[in-house]
Amino acid sequence: MSNLDEVYIHPSAIVESKNIGRNTRIWAFAHILEGAKIGRNVNIGDHCFIENDVTIENNVVIKNGISIWDGVTIEDGAFLGPNVALTNELFPRSGFPKGLEKTLIKRGATIGANATILTGITLGEFSTIGAGSVVTKNVSRHALVYGNPVKQKGWVCTCGVKLKFSKNKEAKCSCGREFIEKGRQIQLVNKT
Ligand SMILES: [Zn+2]
Repeated sequence: MSNLDEVYIHPSAIVESKNIGRNTRIWAFAHILEGAKIGRNVNIGDHCFIENDVTIENNVVIKNGISIWDGVTIEDGAFLGPNVALTNELFPRSGFPKGLEKTLIKRGATIGANATILTGITLGEFSTIGAGSVVTKNVSRHALVYGNPVKQKGWVCTCGVKLKFSKNKEAKCSCGREFIEKGRQIQLVNKT
């Protein structure tokens, strides 16, 4: 935890949480409520709103104009493109509260600009959601999905590049990582 000495806070931001790690940057007109937990080296763009029951781990990028509601957890190194829409009620109706659902964005996942994530959903490690998509179900680790509703269109490497699998279900990325396809998952077979 820090006392915010090592956090950059733009003078126009409203930051009520004290639970923010060092080297995190919070840009203009962002508003962070008191209960939010935010890790180290996180970048929070202009006009973001972060509610109380929110955990954001280290090295996360949150581009401009994103609201992060109660029940959302964002793991290490995830990337949220501009204006991503998160939600936390499945059947919202004013005056008929039904309790909030949770959303989990796992380590290294990327969400393209303007995508909408329905609630109760987990986005797998290193998955990529295409810009403008609507995500209505869980996404597998390393899956590339897009559309409305999203469909799986392939696989992406840890580094974010789309993988091309050979007939024997092997793929090598330009970054040197190698994967095999097994059932409905892929596995990293070397350490780089
Ligand atoms: Zn790669």
